[in-house]
Amino acid sequence: MASILLKNCSEVVYSKNGREKIGSEMAVVDVLIDSDVLIIDGKFKQIGKNLDAPEGVTVMDCSGKSVIPGFVDGHTHPVFDGDRSNEFSMKLAGAGYMEIHKQGGGIHYTVNETRKCSEERLTNLLFNRLDQMLLQGTVVAEAKSGYGLDCETEMKMLRVIKKAKETHPMKIQSTYLCAHAVPPGADAAQMTKEIVEEHIPAVAKANLGVDNIDVFCEKGVYDAQQSKEMLLAGRAHGWAINFHAEELTYIKGAEMGAELDARAMSHLELVSDAAIQSMAAKKTAAVVLPTTAYILKLVPPPVRQMIQNNVVVALCSDYNPNVPCFSMPFVMHLGCILCKMTMEEAFNAATINSAFSLGLTDSYGSITEGKVGSCLVLDAPSWKHIVYQLGNHQNVVKHVILDGRIHS
Ligand SMILES: [Zn+2]
Repeated sequence: MASILLKNCSEVVYSKNGREKIGSEMAVVDVLIDSDVLIIDGKFKQIGKNLDAPEGVTVMDCSGKSVIPGFVDGHTHPVFDGDRSNEFSMKLAGAGYMEIHKQGGGIHYTVNETRKCSEERLTNLLFNRLDQMLLQGTVVAEAKSGYGLDCETEMKMLRVIKKAKETHPMKIQSTYLCAHAVPPGADAAQMTKEIVEEHIPAVAKANLGVDNIDVFCEKGVYDAQQSKEMLLAGRAHGWAINFHAEELTYIKGAEMGAELDARAMSHLELVSDAAIQSMAAKKTAAVVLPTTAYILKLVPPPVRQMIQNNVVVALCSDYNPNVPCFSMPFVMHLGCILCKMTMEEAFNAATINSAFSLGLTDSYGSITEGKVGSCLVLDAPSWKHIVYQLGNHQNVVKHVILDGRIHS
């Protein structure tokens, strides 16, 4: 476990209580001016002015630089093979997600390529993508399966994610996306039964380190009742409910999720007023993915209304073959422009609130005494530069510190 003293930082984004933020709290980013951050044995020990370095502790001069918590990306699909760059031109010509899907493109292409891919190659692909995320300041990432659709490939994907959990320097959470699409030739009711009775028990038995259970609750994929059956079957194994809801069609998926006390729901472009109230009451996090709204030209989710109603709003990348974005800074920028968030709201959504969406606020999401000492040193005098900057974020992220160690 490493120790370091970050000295003379022009700004430190600090949180005294280290808790998730709702409503007007989201409008505030607490900043300490001209301060130091001391990390001992991988944990934040002290934040304040004129701190002395204990013997043997590395000192980094951070004059003119700001120190912020590392980003938490709570929604990614980074385990896949196959190149889908050609679909960008189809989308530009006007094809929608479901149209590409029906033509055997989209997810089915990725599924075929991922099924064929060796476990070794899949591991290399995942590790390279995680390395890219790290360079742009993501220190925690959730990673989903979901491009197998059959039990064998889903388990291969989950083994690859488990390997990353055990050996990649980032903190990784594993999500079993048991129902991402209905395989060609199958029907949703039959697949739901098979997933509940065969796939989920097999995955649980194999001890693959799963943290969350996910489904794509969508018209033409799995309806709210089928989704509910699979989510409950997953939760029976101790996995947190964290799923895709109300992206393309309103089918009362978010109402169902709130009823189940889901930890988090993603997308929510078409969430209802009633579901927003229920999510606030149940403290179910809303994981907003502005990259998807941007690429698919969807009307973005009603983020202002969610914030006004005290929903815990998180921002994440949705990295997948359809959304080639590793960058949480770009996601925050889109959150401001497309979802009309303030810079402060976007920053809190990409750090402490996305940590909340993964149940990790005790250890990640803010610079708070006692939490894991993972943070970013920005080559800029204020945290605002990382939201303001459009592209070239590696130039702003000067250093990534993981568990008190200088990673890059
Ligand atoms: Zn997704």
